Amino acid sequence: MISVEQAQCLVRDTITPVGTESISLSGSFGRVLAESPTARIAHPTHTVSAMDGYAVRANNIPSTPGKLTVIGESAAGHPFEGSIKDGQAVRIFTGAHIPQDSDTVVIQEDVESDGNTIIINSIEPGRHIRPKAQDFSEGDSLLTPPLRLATRHVGLLASGDRPWIQVFQRPRVAIISTGDEIVLPGEPRTSSQIVSANGPALSAFIQAKGGIPIHLGVVKDDEDALSAITESAMTADLIVTSGGVSVGDHDLVRKALGNAGVDVKFHKIAMRPGKPVIFGHLDKTPVLGLPGNPVSALICALLFLGPAIDRLQGLPGSAPKRIPAVLGADVNANGGREDYMRAVLSRNKDGNQTATPIFAQDSSMIGALANSDALIVRPIEAPAAKTGQAVPVIPLDGLL
Ligand code: AMP
Ligand code: MG
Repeated sequence: MISVEQAQCLVRDTITPVGTESISLSGSFGRVLAESPTARIAHPTHTVSAMDGYAVRANNIPSTPGKLTVIGESAAGHPFEGSIKDGQAVRIFTGAHIPQDSDTVVIQEDVESDGNTIIINSIEPGRHIRPKAQDFSEGDSLLTPPLRLATRHVGLLASGDRPWIQVFQRPRVAIISTGDEIVLPGEPRTSSQIVSANGPALSAFIQAKGGIPIHLGVVKDDEDALSAITESAMTADLIVTSGGVSVGDHDLVRKALGNAGVDVKFHKIAMRPGKPVIFGHLDKTPVLGLPGNPVSALICALLFLGPAIDRLQGLPGSAPKRIPAVLGADVNANGGREDYMRAVLSRNKDGNQTATPIFAQDSSMIGALANSDALIVRPIEAPAAKTGQAVPVIPLDGLL
């Protein structure tokens, strides 16, 4: 048995990224950047006004109130083409080019106007001007790869006038659900059959991680059938199976993967839920065998499949982020397996992030997992811990 951390290292170190492709910025949210995009234009492209008001020369108003003559207007998209001379001002609006020889914008709240004459009641020399390239210059590197693009990155690339962007391809992840008793949701079902939670849930997870899920269906507990479908999926970027990895008479996945030619690197991890997890390669294609119990399958997906998909997209493949929290209830001493306890998050009266383990920790209880919002990580042989004690927590938000 190896530790969770050792297993994560092995997954990370033996997976190589897929290729890259050029895509339109409009579809780039969540994709992983594969180039160092440079700005094709400065931002702002010109020196512009930050407020609505009047563009002036500060030395024309040595004291207030001061009088000026308005000689024109500069609006966003409609610049004033001339320059400002002594005694003159230009009506200006947010985002409009600052007229030549003007150095200050006086906000309209500080101005009284009467036709073309204005009285300036207050002035701060140099204020309310955004200099050209204040944010970034033409040719500047905008972002550093590898990076999963969020909304703000898309906005930045758009501002730098980069309508196309080089990203890692979306890894194609083949999903094989196993078990004589498993049918897909909505399918006809005998009284001894159950509905697959894992196939649809793993598809969702893979999609959330930027991969393309390809559900190959449910395979019976039959060694040859399992070998055949695994071999057939060899050209995927990653193969993930669910079920059949424990030590029961009908748990044939390890053997079937071996027959198919999978070079198994590990098949047991010191963790709960989900001790039996298989990882290896079929030629160059990584293969991850997850347990059948839905809570085990999904927590193992979070810990191993997520980093694997990240790594395929050129990211480091780091373990899920942990945040500090305090316990909302006492917990018992832990044994020889790292424990991932389902918990709900709240704030205690001091405002601290609090993680309270839920009562139902059985690895089949998808209902309990769905109503949790975090996992409390209990290290191997951790002593009993009291309410209020600090614990690391993995939030599930937006992913699991
Ligand atoms: P196994 O790992 O095949 O021994 O399965 C462990 C438990 O998980 C059994 O109760 C299975 O019926 C259940 N199970 C296996 N696959 C799935 C699935 N895709 N969805 C929901 N439960 C499953
Ligand atoms: Mg099974």
